[in-house]
Amino acid sequence: MQFDDELLNRLRQAKRLVFFTGAGTSTESGVPTFRDEQNSLWINFDATRFATESGFRANPGQVWQWYAERRQQLQTLSPNPAHRVMAAWQDKTAGVTVITQNIDGFHQQAGSRDVIELHGNITANKCVDFGHVAPMDVNLSDQPPHCQQCGSLLRPDIVWFGEALPAVAYHFAEQLCFDCEVFVCIGCSMEVYPAASLPFNAARSGAYLIQINPQATPLDEVADCNLYGKAGEILPQLWQAVWQEPLP
Ligand SMILES: [Zn+2]
Repeated sequence: MQFDDELLNRLRQAKRLVFFTGAGTSTESGVPTFRDEQNSLWINFDATRFATESGFRANPGQVWQWYAERRQQLQTLSPNPAHRVMAAWQDKTAGVTVITQNIDGFHQQAGSRDVIELHGNITANKCVDFGHVAPMDVNLSDQPPHCQQCGSLLRPDIVWFGEALPAVAYHFAEQLCFDCEVFVCIGCSMEVYPAASLPFNAARSGAYLIQINPQATPLDEVADCNLYGKAGEILPQLWQAVWQEPLP
């Protein structure tokens, strides 16, 4: 892929750079998404049963086991070159932050630090009554464990339908959008709000906006540069073009 000089210069000179990732980034690792009907793993996904607090309270054992299976599936998958480029970028220059809508923890696995997770992390748990954070539990039984602090049931620490995004994470993400010089939006369908408002906020605040996605999205008209294709292919090329050195 050919990149124009302004794009390369902006990336090379940025002191505050945000990588913002959506489902498409993880799909390239084989992680099924809620919406992707070509991927049969989640085709029978019933959001009311498996992704709401009321669904969990009605059938905690069933929901817990459903997530245990998803967790086992994730352990067979791994980060792809897009995750690795973003982690390397953070080592290369200061002021790089990853904000993600994904719940798989692949950015951290690839080496990214201080990742802002807007939709939680499926590998962590919290209790259903008070949100007490609990370490990853390898319990694959058909019943969720209990919180050690309050005794209520543990659930995956992800944002379910009808729930607000984690307030601190979202506030921090908004600040970064206002402050950054370059914002790179990767694999986002731009359909899930409020997270999808972040790239628009960044553009309005004067950031140079780069979008990497196989398909067109509502962000196309706002972006300064649209790169159509897979992030796992484009980001390594972009690394090479910007830094003129192989990916470590
Ligand atoms: Zn608790």
